Amino acid sequence: MQWEKDAEQAMSRVPFFVRKRVKKKVEAMAGDSGATMVTMVHVEACRQRFMTNQEKEVKGFQVETCFGAGGCPNAIANHGDMADRLEKTLAALNLKEFMRAKVDGPLKMHHEFRVSISDCPNSCSRPQIVDIGLIGAAMPTITAADCSRCEACITACREHGITLAAQGPAINFDMCLACGQCYQNCPTETLRPHKKGFRILLGGKLGRHPQLGRELNTIFSPDETMTIVEKCLAHFMAHNEKGERFGELLNRTGYDFLKPLAILKKLGCP
Ligand code: SF4
Ligand code: SF4
Ligand code: SF4
Repeated sequence: MQWEKDAEQAMSRVPFFVRKRVKKKVEAMAGDSGATMVTMVHVEACRQRFMTNQEKEVKGFQVETCFGAGGCPNAIANHGDMADRLEKTLAALNLKEFMRAKVDGPLKMHHEFRVSISDCPNSCSRPQIVDIGLIGAAMPTITAADCSRCEACITACREHGITLAAQGPAINFDMCLACGQCYQNCPTETLRPHKKGFRILLGGKLGRHPQLGRELNTIFSPDETMTIVEKCLAHFMAHNEKGERFGELLNRTGYDFLKPLAILKKLGCP
């Protein structure tokens, strides 16, 4: 749907973490009234409805994504399937009713459990500041294919994680963010992806006491990621006090609840 310039500008001032949802609601409201273009009248009407009944607008959880699936050349993971799986898992938990029973007073947007997926380490959807953040990642490896010494990988690596020795490239994994740029630019396939999947960050939040999510120290396949997410949600629901954010809960309980997971034992983390 088309947007009038004023309405578009007003939307750009909506906080990023609710912008996508608000935009959808304004467009639905405009559509219901038979309009083909969104104007300030629709934006204002939507704002009024939201301010007078915020609890009704609360869904209990949010799954946000970056624009990687829209064709961003930096995308490593394809979040489409993962976002659907997360939506289904979160919807089945009825988190809105769960939080309503925990929170004193009306539910607000910040009570929602938030998961954010970015398809590369540029992290456009800010996975560091949500309850569970996923970052698409691919760890490079060196194959037996001959290196042409073109230095494309060195130019591509913004972390200065690659050097060229006499026998070919060397990767400094302490500097590597698993962004995949080096192997994507390697013409000889000397560099190839070793494991593709997601980095996982837990317990990030903004608010009065902001903190970045703590990262588990490896890359997880989509199935492994879902196993960890389900374990985190079970822990969140078993130990939540007064609707606290996952990060606050983890500060109180620690991360030992993850240790029995076979995949984490196998991978040697957190
Ligand atoms: S996070 Fe990466 S893949 Fe997603 S939109 Fe940003 S640059 Fe593109
Ligand atoms: S994956 Fe990214 S950060 Fe890691 S070595 Fe390659 S280009 Fe550098
Ligand atoms: S991009 Fe590939 S071929 Fe070129 S220097 Fe790096 S490893 Fe060698």
